Amino acid sequence: MSTSKNPETLGLHAGYRADPATGAVAVPIHQTTSYQFRDTAHAAALFSLQELGPIYTRIGGPTADVLEQRIAAMEGGAAALAVSSGQAASAFAVQNIAHAGDNIVTSTDLYGGTWNLFANTFKDMGIEVRFVDPADPQAFARATDDKTRAYYAETLPNPKLRVFPIKEVADIGRPLGIPLIMDNTAAPVICRPFEHGAAVVVYSTTKYLGGHGTSIGGMIVDGGNFDWEAHKARQPYLNQPDPSYHGAVWTEAVKPIGPVAYIIKARTTLLRDLGSAMSPFNAFLTIQGVETVALRMERHCENAVKVADFLSKHPAVESVIFPGLMTGEAKARADRYLGGKYGALMGMVLKGGADAGKAFIDKLQMFYHVANIGDARSLAIHPATTTHSQLSAEEQEATGVSPGYVRLSIGIEHIDDIIADLSQALS
Ligand code: PLP
Repeated sequence: MSTSKNPETLGLHAGYRADPATGAVAVPIHQTTSYQFRDTAHAAALFSLQELGPIYTRIGGPTADVLEQRIAAMEGGAAALAVSSGQAASAFAVQNIAHAGDNIVTSTDLYGGTWNLFANTFKDMGIEVRFVDPADPQAFARATDDKTRAYYAETLPNPKLRVFPIKEVADIGRPLGIPLIMDNTAAPVICRPFEHGAAVVVYSTTKYLGGHGTSIGGMIVDGGNFDWEAHKARQPYLNQPDPSYHGAVWTEAVKPIGPVAYIIKARTTLLRDLGSAMSPFNAFLTIQGVETVALRMERHCENAVKVADFLSKHPAVESVIFPGLMTGEAKARADRYLGGKYGALMGMVLKGGADAGKAFIDKLQMFYHVANIGDARSLAIHPATTTHSQLSAEEQEATGVSPGYVRLSIGIEHIDDIIADLSQALS
């Protein structure tokens, strides 16, 4: 099974066969804070990373470990780290290699929470974030200087839903020693960013990976494909002695384990110090989602294509924002990076503006009116009066939100029921 490369199989089998103590086939929930050491030598070996194993649930445990192995395998990465939310994953992914005085360059097309983290909290911490339009990949090169530690972007960012030029930007960064961190939350399984040159992948597992709207969670995956050692000046925190861990030089310390300096450092320093651990119960629930995510994504994407077709012909709809309906470079990128699918997020602009948007939402019967995306259920929201309501009208337009814009996250219900609900709400 370990030889499989298929996400359908890996989601069910990677990282676990059966519980060695009981034979349990479902991954047990190890609801404990601490793990007893066999003796003092064992304890010392664990703390000095001579041996890897559970110590204390804030820095890892067997339930999260299975989830980490499973997602790392599905992604084609070397190792992963589960954290308490997608926000924690984005924050750690950057903080692991950028400190006060450094900068990163990011795409402007970002989830609002990530935008806030970058524009405000990171700024307060002294990490400068430079925002560039991803329509021109060379904008990343122009914004780069000696203190640039990472590039950051989302594969399929809403509301604009322009697929990010992963390879184009990864290729700019790699020779300079700058890793591309991709938030692949909206496109698990259908996009594998490491195959296009990304070095780190982050997820809000809250969305499609968990899939059932039960658990907030995040994941950072180390591609194991980035030569940190070749860029000692660019990446000092992985190449210089770390005073917070007996002067360990991470690229050297992990050599017996594998190409996992980045992710081991995130666990042993950031997770240890900032404590955003995923609980064993949330890891268990997220595993249930991961077991079927490949199958669900197929149905999500299949339904979304049908909904886009229906909406694009509807007289009350001015326009539909969906990668499959785009033209030119945007469509070419969608085709290149989403493996023939287009995800299941969609925007539609209603002819009647904000009033029509609100009326549509209020009439929905099956769709849930929530701020979330990526649930198995179909979801909808009117951004101008909710998620983007703190922005001025001009700022809303700049982020791709017009007054009549409605965001849809198409679920896996029967397509006839999805269309029926949309149809009655549009009438
Ligand atoms: N990244 C993306 C693309 C998201 O949509 C979200 C949440 O909506 C996040 C990150 C943050 O994830 P969480 O809500 O799990 O903290």
